[in-house]
Amino acid sequence: VNPHEHAYELVPLYTLGALDAAEREAVAAHLHACLTCQEELAVHAAVAAALTADAPAPQHVWRRIEQALDRG
Ligand SMILES: [Zn+2]
Repeated sequence: VNPHEHAYELVPLYTLGALDAAEREAVAAHLHACLTCQEELAVHAAVAAALTADAPAPQHVWRRIEQALDRG
């Protein structure tokens, strides 16, 4: 499987924290190197925040993205 396509497909689940540890690490590692997936992560993080937060806060969204990127 193409690493990018694999990571790209998992980004929504990654955003929701629904991946197992191995998948999460694989996506996080790929995110470091791939702007397309970083942008996809930003989109999904914003959507997830809007769906799950009582009061969507962009700062929280960006913090989560930064944390996700730092983790890899
Ligand atoms: Zn990618």
